[in-house]
Amino acid sequence: MTTFFRSRLGLKLFLSYLAVIVVCLGILAFSVNLAAPRAFARHLANMGTMPGMGGMMQPGRGAGGMMGGFYANFRLAVSEALVWAAGAAALAAALASLLIARQVILPVQALKSATQRIADGRYHERVSLPEFKSPDELDELGQLALSFNQMASRLEQAEALRRQLIGDVAHELRTPLTVIRGSMEGLMDGVLPANQETYQQVFREAERLNRLVDDLQELSRVEAGAYELKLQPVSVEGLVRSVVASLGRQYEQKGVKISVSVAPGLPPVMADELRIGQVLTNLLINALQYTPEGGQVEVRAVESQGMVRFSVIDTGIGIPAEHLPHIFDRFYRVDKSRSRASGGSGVGLTIARHLVEAHGGTIWAESAGTNAGSTFSFTLPKATTRSG
Ligand code: ADP
Repeated sequence: MTTFFRSRLGLKLFLSYLAVIVVCLGILAFSVNLAAPRAFARHLANMGTMPGMGGMMQPGRGAGGMMGGFYANFRLAVSEALVWAAGAAALAAALASLLIARQVILPVQALKSATQRIADGRYHERVSLPEFKSPDELDELGQLALSFNQMASRLEQAEALRRQLIGDVAHELRTPLTVIRGSMEGLMDGVLPANQETYQQVFREAERLNRLVDDLQELSRVEAGAYELKLQPVSVEGLVRSVVASLGRQYEQKGVKISVSVAPGLPPVMADELRIGQVLTNLLINALQYTPEGGQVEVRAVESQGMVRFSVIDTGIGIPAEHLPHIFDRFYRVDKSRSRASGGSGVGLTIARHLVEAHGGTIWAESAGTNAGSTFSFTLPKATTRSG
């Protein structure tokens, strides 16, 4: 019951004003009761001593004149008492209103200055809240302050991510730029021979920069959700086979075997074919990149817990357990020097995770450790065929 009253600002204001009215009426009644008789007695006493008025008390002046004098004095006495009572009531009302207004204004002012400080870029600012066990106990102003604090901590997180991203991007750009700059300086100074190999090296680094910029653009698009998923029933077998076929030549060139195993009678999945094709391609390119010549990669699709699970299983270099939780983070690489040298930007899996999650699925990696191969799996919802 108290929580009900405490959590409603409108009700609290209404009750406060009611309390002011009651207090005022009380003071008014008390003052009139106290002051009116005294004032009346004083006026009556004055009446007897006033020159010319004393006659009113004398017999023979008539009852009418005496009553008139009484009424006049009564009115005077009541008016005087009312003046005192109104003064006291106004003072009490002003004090009570001041207290109530302070209760409302103080949190609003705290919010206003915290908003100002956040607008100035001080994202760690928070508004202090009264002690509470659950948000239901807070009134509207308290809940506003709570939401404000939540918004402030989200802004703080976003700002930290933005800073980290700028740092990461700068770091990623530095390596190819340093190589290009070094090669060009070597060429200009005549230290490096102006031959095919040198040009190839510069070209490779420029290509890597290009890929990185493309990947970053794609990452920012998927992270911001600035793309549209064209969801439709997609045949699992068809999807897997077309992606595998598009990478066949690259697998052949490296000497890595690739096989497909799709469970019979698998229902279609609800997916954007292009986007999920992108995810599968990404996983298969990684599997090829991290599997040495003579290795094997298998793409498997099965029904599992009401979803369709796709797995890319390789016999490659594997992933040590301590790296597994971070593998989907932006720019995370297990072996930083090796991946960077071979052209990986470290955002492929981050993009894959965003795309799979946008489809309502999950993606994860498993590996028994170094050189024990890796399995990357993701799930997609089945397409429900509606009858009628
Ligand atoms: P990259 O472009 O560097 O491959 P990804 O986001 O695709 O970036 O992958 C992140 C990291 O995960 C890679 O740098 C690599 O260390 C590790 N990784 C990804 N796939 C595999 C795999 N199949 N086997 C071993 N390690 C892998």
